[in-house]
Amino acid sequence: MKTINSSEFDAEVLHAGKVVLDFYSTECPPCEALASKFEDLSLLYGNDIKFLKIFRQQNRELADKLGVKSSPTLLFFDNGKEVGERLTGGVKRIDIIRNLDNLLPAEKVNSIKSQIKPTVSEFDVIILGAGPGGLTAGLYLCQSKVNTVLIDIALPGGHVSTTHEVSNYPGFIEPQAGYMLSHNMSEQTKLCGTIYKVAVDITRVDLEKKEVIIDEYETVKAKKIIIATGTTPNLTGAPGEKELKGKGISYCATCDAKYFDGKEAVVIGGGNSAVEESEYITRFASKLTIVHQFDKFTANKQAQDKVFSNPKINILFENEPRSFTREGDKIITEIENVRTKVKQKLFSDGVFIFIGMKPNIDLFRDKLELDKWGYIKTNEDMKTSVDGVYAVGDVISKKYRQITTAVADGTIAAMAIAKELD
Ligand SMILES: Cc1cc2nc3c(=O)[nH]c(=O)nc-3n(C[C@H](O)[C@H](O)[C@H](O)COP(=O)(O)OP(=O)(O)OC[C@H]3O[C@@H](n4cnc5c(N)ncnc54)[C@H](O)[C@@H]3O)c2cc1C
Repeated sequence: MKTINSSEFDAEVLHAGKVVLDFYSTECPPCEALASKFEDLSLLYGNDIKFLKIFRQQNRELADKLGVKSSPTLLFFDNGKEVGERLTGGVKRIDIIRNLDNLLPAEKVNSIKSQIKPTVSEFDVIILGAGPGGLTAGLYLCQSKVNTVLIDIALPGGHVSTTHEVSNYPGFIEPQAGYMLSHNMSEQTKLCGTIYKVAVDITRVDLEKKEVIIDEYETVKAKKIIIATGTTPNLTGAPGEKELKGKGISYCATCDAKYFDGKEAVVIGGGNSAVEESEYITRFASKLTIVHQFDKFTANKQAQDKVFSNPKINILFENEPRSFTREGDKIITEIENVRTKVKQKLFSDGVFIFIGMKPNIDLFRDKLELDKWGYIKTNEDMKTSVDGVYAVGDVISKKYRQITTAVADGTIAAMAIAKELD
């Protein structure tokens, strides 16, 4: 593995056969998460593919010329021509491997794969999920000198990292940008010494054996497991939603509202998220229509009052979406009045869907006692029905799902475990 600068690009990349190039930056958590995977894979594939790194901040002109807009970005070259996918953000090991394999003949790939030695690492506690619940548990365990690993399929932060502003987390007078709050939580836990394995692929979780297999070949074992995997947004299920997801349909206002300057949006939903995020979206959008299936919102009164008095917002109660289609630049949301059965089409520049969440428990659903909505049942120490397995945060059965409640659950589980392991 070698670090180059832009003056070496032609010789080292364009005239150099098979190459993978990592544009990295400093103070970039996803770059840090990628670094060990990149180094590890260079040991396996390094004889056949050149592994190069380039510091983006010092080589901006080249980055701009190549259209590299975020760090890290991995580019793959074959005889001077860029090939494969560009990988950015929380880059997964399996995605790098897929692109490396595509550069080589099948026999070579098989020979490399036969050299991979499965690894086993042991900890006192595995935490699955690095949102506020998991990060807080990691912090408390680390401060109690409990050897802990945090495993996440994405980058640390959970939902908070995509929430535009958090105004109700105690200790801050001014509202905090969600990504900064989650970044600070993550850095605090990492600095303490908790091991991070993030942007990984989880192949299998065995709650009874307390084993998690990541990226196919790495077994992580522990004495206890904390499940802190949070929730995923529900889909409406209407035709066209899946196809237009990320192409006009969004589940995250923080991520996408900024692209609606002077444009029109539709919001589906009527709970806290729908109503609060609608207010936020109108900072950018010129017009917004909320479509809600019931005749009143279930959001808190304060948020409702803001929406009712916002001149940019139009509300259609007792309507449900029936389909989503694209016509040119516009998304057409066909809605139906649940009482009169009258259908109409709403033309907008994009749709935001906020209709609740489902717990992320697919990898261990069968083993745990769940409530009727599929959330994990716990006792007051956050213990689940499986011995040595705890659960915290939004994934558990409880009434209120907030950052403060996730953080509290994480604290309780960590203190209970530290006491038990003592
Ligand atoms: C749009 C929006 C706005 C919000 N605004 C606020 C607010 O202003 N104030 C407030 O207090 N709360 C707010 N909330 C709620 C708050 O974000 C959650 O209550 C909180 O993030 C829950 O934390 P958690 O750690 O349980 O889960 P999450 O934050 O959901 O984190 C779960 C983590 O687990 C990971 N994961 C998922 N599946 C797996 C798996 N199989 N294995 C390993 N890792 C996995 C995910 O990648 C994620 O990093 C908001 C939520 C949303 C959606």
